[in-house]
Amino acid sequence: MILKDIKEYTKSLKNYFSDIIDKDDQPQLAIIQVGDVEASNRYVKNKLKDCEEVGIIGHRYWFDENITEDELVEEIKLLQDHYDGVIVQLPLPQHIRSQSATAAIDKNKDVDGFKVDSEFLPATPKGIKDYLDYCGFEFEGAHVVIIGRSDIVGKPMAQICTDANATVTLCHSKTKNLDQFIQAADLIICAVGKPHFLNCYSIHVPVIDVGINFDENGKLCGDCFNVENRDVTPVPGGVGLLTRCALLENVILAKKGKV
Ligand code: NAD
Repeated sequence: MILKDIKEYTKSLKNYFSDIIDKDDQPQLAIIQVGDVEASNRYVKNKLKDCEEVGIIGHRYWFDENITEDELVEEIKLLQDHYDGVIVQLPLPQHIRSQSATAAIDKNKDVDGFKVDSEFLPATPKGIKDYLDYCGFEFEGAHVVIIGRSDIVGKPMAQICTDANATVTLCHSKTKNLDQFIQAADLIICAVGKPHFLNCYSIHVPVIDVGINFDENGKLCGDCFNVENRDVTPVPGGVGLLTRCALLENVILAKKGKV
């Protein structure tokens, strides 16, 4: 087991952030939310709580689900001058393209790291990489298998691991013989979004479970199963906490103008 307790790790990170934030000149984050999606309400509430804990001023801007894409883009452009960081809580209603909303955010305020030219690393891959460094995982020469090739997790994760001198295999829904890659991995990062996707029974390397799903009983779960006595990050209480801490760090960096 190399994976360490995520709750303890994120708690110590937050204490550190709290220490370095200038309480007379606090960083400010705007969180844009459209519509009334229950999961989004919960995520935004958690992010605001995190901000308060460390001394970042967090403001939620809530817009009705009938707002048009153009109106939302205009609102983002108007409000961002007053903030160090701006994020748009996804998903957005179907008639608004998330790329359009993200494109409206300045690259030096895009603290979720969603823009191609963002000055920040995407929060989830950054949180995972920092945590693995803390756990002492040696990226150099390791074979990292990433399952899922989204723009916000899989692809940037592959870039970050490659930059750390790992050999990376980026798997996706069209990959043949996925099991063959899994068995040859030194580290697996699973970001598929399907409950009971990855059977960890015969996996004996660390697994980062990025998935957020609900099982048949409506219970929150990741992508992995048969995780007893395996080195797998928990869901909940795993990657979600790492992502939230990485976001806080990006806001602090945005305030300092140093990324
Ligand atoms: P996505 O939903 O955009 O795409 C899923 C990926 O899985 C695709 O690249 C697809 O090719 C791959 N895939 C689907 N079926 C597959 C199969 N049978 N074999 C191999 N690959 C397959 O990806 P996403 O936005 O990265 O989200 C993935 C999961 O991670 C979701 O559950 C999401 O909620 C979760 N997530 C969690 C956090 C967090 O902070 N904990 C952050 C982002 C995403």
